[in-house]
Amino acid sequence: MIRLRLKSGREASVLRRHPWLFSGAVASAEGDGADGHAEIVDAAGRPLARGAYSPDSQILSRLWSFDGRAPDGALVRERFAAAKRLRREVLPPETTGYRAVNSEGDCCPGVLLDVYGEVAVLELLTGGTEKWRGELESAARDVFAPGRLIVRESGASRDSASAHKSEIRNPKSEIPPVPFFENGLHLLADVSGGQKTGFFLDQRENRNQLRALAQGKTVLNLFSYSGAFAVAALAGGASRAVDVDSSAAALTLGRAHRRANGLAASDADFVAADVFEDVRRRVAEGERFDIVVCDPPAFAKKKSDVDRAARGYKDVNRLAMALVAPGGWLLSCSCSGLVSADLFQKIVFSASLDAGLSFALARRQGAGPDHPVSLDCPEGEYLKGLWLHRGAVP
Ligand code: SAH
Repeated sequence: MIRLRLKSGREASVLRRHPWLFSGAVASAEGDGADGHAEIVDAAGRPLARGAYSPDSQILSRLWSFDGRAPDGALVRERFAAAKRLRREVLPPETTGYRAVNSEGDCCPGVLLDVYGEVAVLELLTGGTEKWRGELESAARDVFAPGRLIVRESGASRDSASAHKSEIRNPKSEIPPVPFFENGLHLLADVSGGQKTGFFLDQRENRNQLRALAQGKTVLNLFSYSGAFAVAALAGGASRAVDVDSSAAALTLGRAHRRANGLAASDADFVAADVFEDVRRRVAEGERFDIVVCDPPAFAKKKSDVDRAARGYKDVNRLAMALVAPGGWLLSCSCSGLVSADLFQKIVFSASLDAGLSFALARRQGAGPDHPVSLDCPEGEYLKGLWLHRGAVP
């Protein structure tokens, strides 16, 4: 364990139970922290909190307890069990894919657990929680009893200063896509090679909205990944849904998704292309869709990216807006935590001015209740979804 002594006057955020301790707040350290455990003490040496220690991260410690309790196996089990109780209360029927543990939102900073039917994926997001792997794995097995548990470690690479390293995934083991249900739809998670833990569980509520709106409509699904939005739309009676993604592997999953649900999958509905180029071409050709979904990857991964990200969001939204038929919808999303809800709405407004089109914000919809956000750590809220209705006014 390492004891981190705070600079005088820097204890306020810890006293407010904010779970992130930044390196700049620390005056001195004793011990080596090789076991990934840290104790936080104030300038006078009084204990304040315990947490996971990530020496290579700016967030030196993510805090798990503020009452002196050691974050040991028993505490992890309690937290996981509480997370499980919440899911029991909020998950819709016929849904076996969900986020079972949501990092700070479940008082388990640096740990995600996604369940896909019989398989659970434990993702360790920090160098510190990677060190706790044994305890976290056994707690996950005890509490959630998955048929198979897969562990992904993205912490140390995320902590390191080298930006491109954060893209590196664990070596691919060959696990076929894992089937699960969401609101009765057959879905697949690419747990070994895919994005996130293999699927975007955080868009469940938006998929459901889309399904409810889609009857008889045409849908363009930009940044489609495995095409789950298209599956929801077609299940809701959409007349056609087109997936656009630069990843051929993602589109292959998209085809499998449609087949699994008995939906038609014609080649023309899977477009392997850069979205920016694809939408420019569609705009030039005067195409229109009743519903356009625009759910890009996080354009801002660090603070210095925010300006560039804002330009990217504005460009893609301006183009997407031009593709929406009068009376139609744009679902515009951003999963960049660094772009606030406020800023994102302003960017989208500015895109609509450039597009010369007027849209009304009919609904804001982020992640579902299996992605809780701790009031102690509002930074945990990252997904923004704006349901924009294009009125009859040109
Ligand atoms: N909407 C998806 C998740 C999108 S993740 C869902 O609900 O499941 C972002 C996706 O964008 C990834 O599949 C990635 O391959 C794709 N992508 C990133 N940049 C792209 C670009 N410039 N053009 C096309 N696809 C892109």
